[in-house]
Amino acid sequence: MPQEDSQSPKNDLIVRMSLLRMLESGILNSIECPQCHRHSVSVWFTHPQVNEYRTWFICTECSFEMRVQNSEKPLHYTEDRVDARLETYDVDVLRKKRFS
Ligand SMILES: [Zn+2]
Repeated sequence: MPQEDSQSPKNDLIVRMSLLRMLESGILNSIECPQCHRHSVSVWFTHPQVNEYRTWFICTECSFEMRVQNSEKPLHYTEDRVDARLETYDVDVLRKKRFS
């Protein structure tokens, strides 16, 4: 697949849908990366505010990461899957949004 294709909105939507489907079926580790195609994507969550949740898909082998906003607790959300570094980022994003 040519590199520029992965940047198109249509392709991005397909990637998002397939990753979200994995999550829905309860797969949180060793998901195939849409970028490097290794099974190295894991799911992480953050909970930056009341009623604000984020789901992250992070590849350990390349730079791929995808962030999904949730207005309610995501399926399969657990406290031990909350990543402190990502949560700090999301808290920061929300804070900036509030003051802009
Ligand atoms: Zn990757």
